Amino acid sequence: MTAEAVPIPAQDLPVLGSLSPSRAGDFMTCPLLFRYRTIDRLPQAPSSAATRGTLVHAVLERLFDLPAGERTPETAATLLAPEWAKLQEAEPEVAGLFTDELELASWLTSARQLLDGYFTLEDPRRLDPAEREAYVEVVLPGGLRLRGIVDRLDVAPSGDVRVVDYKTGRSPGEAFEGKALFQMKFYALVLWRTRGVVPRRLQLMYLGDREVLAYSPDESDLLATERKLLALWEAIERAVQARDFRPRPSKLCDWCDHQAFCPEKGGTLLPWPEIVPHPDEPEARHVAAAARQS
Ligand code: SF4
Repeated sequence: MTAEAVPIPAQDLPVLGSLSPSRAGDFMTCPLLFRYRTIDRLPQAPSSAATRGTLVHAVLERLFDLPAGERTPETAATLLAPEWAKLQEAEPEVAGLFTDELELASWLTSARQLLDGYFTLEDPRRLDPAEREAYVEVVLPGGLRLRGIVDRLDVAPSGDVRVVDYKTGRSPGEAFEGKALFQMKFYALVLWRTRGVVPRRLQLMYLGDREVLAYSPDESDLLATERKLLALWEAIERAVQARDFRPRPSKLCDWCDHQAFCPEKGGTLLPWPEIVPHPDEPEARHVAAAARQS
C-alpha cells in the first residue's frame, strides 16, 4: 500500500457534495441533463428497457441466495415471475408499461433471453460472491462524497478483488469503452480509498450481446479518476454558482425525457428551482434504474 492509498476513515467529514457514477456520467454527457435530474429532480418515466434491467438484476441477485448447484438457467427463469411481482408491488407504475398480456409476455421472454446470455458468460455454480448489491462510499478530504452500489464483489483466496457489474444493454464500441469503464474505476477508487486494496479486475458483463469488458486498474488509474472527479465537482459547483448548465446535444438526446425543457430541442429552459436539494439526497429511482441498462 502506498502512502496515497492509506484508507480514508469513515469519519464525520462535512459533506459538501455527492457524486455517484450515474450523476458524474450525466454531467459529462450533458450539464443540463444533470441539472434536470439532480437539481430540479424532474420525474423520469419508467421505461420497459430500464425496468427489464432492474428485473434481471433482481433475479441475478436472488440466484446467489440459492445453493450453488441450483444456479441454473432453468432456476433463474423461475425467479422471473416472483421478482416481477415484487417489482410491481414496490413500483406500481411499472405495470402500466404494457398494454396487454401479450406485450408483457414478450417482454418477460426478452428478460429470460438476457438471463440465458448471462449463463453463456460465466457459471454461477462455481462462484461464491463476497458481496452483492454492495453499497460503497467514501468522503474525500475536500468534502466530496463518492458513493454507489456495486452489483457484485468477488474475493479470491489470494485476496484479489474483482468488481462485477451487469448491464442489460449491448457492449460499447471501442471508442466508448473508456466511458463505460469510468463507472468501474469510480467503484475501484472508493474501494481502494476505504479498504486499501486496488481491485485486480473490473468486469462489465453485457448480457444484451453476451460480451465482457474487463480491465485491470493500477494506482495511477485510480488517482487519475480521483482528480477527474474532483475537477468535475468543481465544474458542477461553478455551474451552480452561475446557475448555468448548458445543454450538450448528442445522439443520447433521443432518450432524454426533458426535451420539452431543452433549448437545443426547441424547448424552453425551466427557471432555476427555488429549492436546491441537499447534496446527500438520493437520486430518483428511475435514474438509478436507467444506469443499470447501459
Ligand atoms: S435533449 Fe439532449 S441536450 Fe437537451 S437536456 Fe436532454 S440530453 Fe441535454
